[in-house]
Amino acid sequence: MSEPKPNLVGGDWVAGDAAPNINPSDTTDIVGLYARASAAQTRMAIDAAKAAFPAWSRSTPLERHAVLRAASDEILARKEELGQLLSREEGKTLAEGIGETVRAAQIFDFFAGEALRLTGEVLPSIRPGVGVEITREPMGVVGIITPWNFPIAIPAWKLAPALCYGNTVVFKPADLVPGCAWALVDILRRAGLPDGVLNLVMGRGSVVGQTIVDNPDVAALTFTGSVPTGAALAAKSAQLMRKVQLEMGGKNPFVVLADADLDVAVDCVINGAFFSTGQRCTASSRIIVEEAIEGAFLDKMTERMAGLRVGNALEPETQIGPVVDESQLSQNEKYIEIGQDEGARLVAGGERVSRDTEGYFQMPALFADCNNQMRIAREEIFGPVAAVIAVKDYDEALSVANDTEFGLSAGIATTSLKHATHFKRNAEAGMVMVNLPTAGVDFHVPFGGRKASSHGPREQGRYAAEFFTTVKTAYTMA
Ligand code: ADP
Repeated sequence: MSEPKPNLVGGDWVAGDAAPNINPSDTTDIVGLYARASAAQTRMAIDAAKAAFPAWSRSTPLERHAVLRAASDEILARKEELGQLLSREEGKTLAEGIGETVRAAQIFDFFAGEALRLTGEVLPSIRPGVGVEITREPMGVVGIITPWNFPIAIPAWKLAPALCYGNTVVFKPADLVPGCAWALVDILRRAGLPDGVLNLVMGRGSVVGQTIVDNPDVAALTFTGSVPTGAALAAKSAQLMRKVQLEMGGKNPFVVLADADLDVAVDCVINGAFFSTGQRCTASSRIIVEEAIEGAFLDKMTERMAGLRVGNALEPETQIGPVVDESQLSQNEKYIEIGQDEGARLVAGGERVSRDTEGYFQMPALFADCNNQMRIAREEIFGPVAAVIAVKDYDEALSVANDTEFGLSAGIATTSLKHATHFKRNAEAGMVMVNLPTAGVDFHVPFGGRKASSHGPREQGRYAAEFFTTVKTAYTMA
């Protein structure tokens, strides 16, 4: 086993208690050892980011462009290796791992371009002789706290805009997936970031994350993770009058109308509910089906599900990798029991299965005869478990779709322009998909939700500037 990978604090690689990064497809495979930062090291990282801010905030667009561009190029050139690392530490299939890595490269490419397009506005004042300039300035030290389910894309979509707009960063990845985070930071550092501009502090949320949250020098905090953690972080941030951006859970509906192309609908549900092992905040977990076609839909679903290949993420034929760890798998199993106790009918899947390697394998599960009040229809499970709810018509479908505390993504399968248009306008979600899975988004357009799913400005694309900058209005009498 090689030396533990260290944290990056103020330009120095610093050692810490080593924790193993375990492959969920094969728990005998240790991906590597990664140092957990202490609270003191985390505070040093914040101090370093603060010290580096004045110079980086005045760096030229070309300097920022060069770093982001070089990072994009290296990620793309190493997509097979990084994609494999991702699949090994998180458990999504190799195709998904490589795809996510390419996505990360595209995000850095996008923000490399944005760095060259930083603009402001010049307007005449309502007062004679006065000019008005509107500019965007960086926030200062940005705290970035990321989850385990997109080990390279989520760090990329927070790091790239943070750096593009001239902020300095303290980055804490999820404890389960330090590998991609470390590789990304190593790439950015070698791409030419000055010392202290980007600091990596791996480790536990309760130690490293909490130290970032509690520190008033962190001017803005962007977080993706669970609702309880996000809510606690928002409460502390409100006390400190700090800007926050939270992306949290989902209980995303996918509506199948009687006029849908059933093959399209089934493709959307298989992908949206089960790919990436259902471990996406945009996953479809409530499938709302018009009762006229419920039987035909369930028949097609069970037929497709019987052919799904669950297994080791690194094997090419695998379509669905393992669940990320034992605690998530036990939680999924608990919800299978809860669903059955609530009177839902388990149509397919749900069982733990063994493969050649020791991993956390579970067959995707589909429940029928559900109603929208059941816990399996209200609580985010974050696994390959979907609940089918039959409704009499489109109006009831829309009302069930919106009857949730969440509002990230909502989808519909229909050939009716009228219903598609109505659904786009009336779904209470940040993202709406017509004849497409609820999961799977572009990198150059806004990402985010409503209600308990999100808080604060949108992520990604040009909308990222809303969070990573603050607006200044300057008046000059000349
Ligand atoms: P998940 O269910 O995705 O693990 P969490 O909200 O627990 O959701 O974790 C998301 C991220 O937040 C992880 O990086 C985790 O370490 C971090 N985190 C957990 N608890 C805290 C906390 N108290 N303060 C700050 N960050 C935390």
